[in-house]
Amino acid sequence: MEGHYFTGGCLCGKVRLATDAEPSRVGICHCLDCRKQYGAVFYTFAVFPDTVVTVTGETAHYGFRHFCPVCGSSVFDKRGSEIEVNAGTLDSDNLVHPTYETWVCRRERWLPAFPVDHRYEHDHE
Ligand SMILES: [Zn+2]
Ligand SMILES: [Zn+2]
Repeated sequence: MEGHYFTGGCLCGKVRLATDAEPSRVGICHCLDCRKQYGAVFYTFAVFPDTVVTVTGETAHYGFRHFCPVCGSSVFDKRGSEIEVNAGTLDSDNLVHPTYETWVCRRERWLPAFPVDHRYEHDHE
């Protein structure tokens, strides 16, 4: 996967993903399902058309949420024709910049304000 702009994968390395495309959008979700899924108080994701992301390695899934069955890392969500890559799986930092937040009704009050353009009380339209 050398040469791709975005590469990422799970903690153990059995699941890998790569794309040369820019994400369609990048967001942060504070919803309860994402909190539970990632075991973190918010989730940052980069959305791509699923045709531009190459995934190698077997994933297990819980609904649309795919994870590595060996190490348990959440790697992406598959929703319709889109793939939401968990920004924390990317190999380099500062590759993606969120422009919106969803489910801010569940946002931790101790978090500082993030420099996003849109904040949605619930889901993003
Ligand atoms: Zn793994
Ligand atoms: Zn969510």
